[in-house]
Amino acid sequence: MPAEIIDGRAVAATIRQELIARISAMGSTTPGLAAVVIGDDPAAQSYLRGIARGCESVGIFTETVRLPEDVTQSRLEEAINDLNNDQRFHGIILQLPLPKHLDTLRAESAISPDKDVDGTNPISTGKLLLGEDTFFPSTAYGVKELLVRSGHSPEGRHVVICGRSNIVGKPLAGILLQKQPGANATVTVCHTGTRNLAEVTRTADILVAAIGRPKVITADMVREGTVVIDVGVNLVEDPKGDKPRLVGDVDFDAVAEKAAAITPVPGGTGPVTTAMLLTNTVTAAERLLSR
Ligand code: NAP
Repeated sequence: MPAEIIDGRAVAATIRQELIARISAMGSTTPGLAAVVIGDDPAAQSYLRGIARGCESVGIFTETVRLPEDVTQSRLEEAINDLNNDQRFHGIILQLPLPKHLDTLRAESAISPDKDVDGTNPISTGKLLLGEDTFFPSTAYGVKELLVRSGHSPEGRHVVICGRSNIVGKPLAGILLQKQPGANATVTVCHTGTRNLAEVTRTADILVAAIGRPKVITADMVREGTVVIDVGVNLVEDPKGDKPRLVGDVDFDAVAEKAAAITPVPGGTGPVTTAMLLTNTVTAAERLLSR
């Protein structure tokens, strides 16, 4: 039987409705999100336009600080520090990857943990692993929300994550391991050093692909009845069209024949990632108000 399609756009729309209510309960406070962008990469501009639209739809004030491609480390950290001290902003995101001459870890460390709504400051990362209150990186947080809100809670299930990046695979493992409702999973993390990947993925109740290569997850790697979450975003040539098209890491049509449920690309994890960034920004503003 073909799989249930997990509709990320619908989940994101529900989350945005909840945020509108939370913002309205804040009275005269308007949550604010600042984005720091270096250079003029078109993919980054498009990602930021999506975030700006999301902010506008729920009532979050947003502004982008644009810095030139050859910005120095100290000028970048100065710009971040200005935003740390700017009371209009409750959240700060830094568009990655940074140009090669810049030190990403130092730049991420410069973001105040109180405003680190992408959860990239090492303090946020450490707190996540310790199970302390912090901001979860949006994509990893989105995968958890997508599972829970679509009725596929990871609690007590075996979740196999393919990919161990600092922004997706590792934080997702940390989130799902927590002894908390909506988490409390048994987690396995795979990567290029994993032997017999298909043998491991076939043991998953929930399989998350965060690899960044099209069609790595094929039908023979998936057991009947698995829930499949495809985080991958890959541009491939479309033989039927004149423009490249977006696909995930999963061979969607074949895997959908075996999976119990699956996310499409586009329309799966992407919209929920943005919704979780907005959620973190609203949470940051609420925390400040409750102090
Ligand atoms: P990344 O930093 O390149 O990490 C990719 C991970 O996949 C690495 O850990 C790598 O292993 C592993 N990997 C690569 N090939 C593999 C293979 N054949 N078998 C098993 N593991 C393999 O990527 P990322 O930043 O995590 O992003 C992953 C994908 O998610 C990309 O397509 C990205 O565009 C997408 N993404 C989507 C969203 C969203 O909102 N939907 C957000 C962020 C990222 P090693 O560590 O051994 O190299």
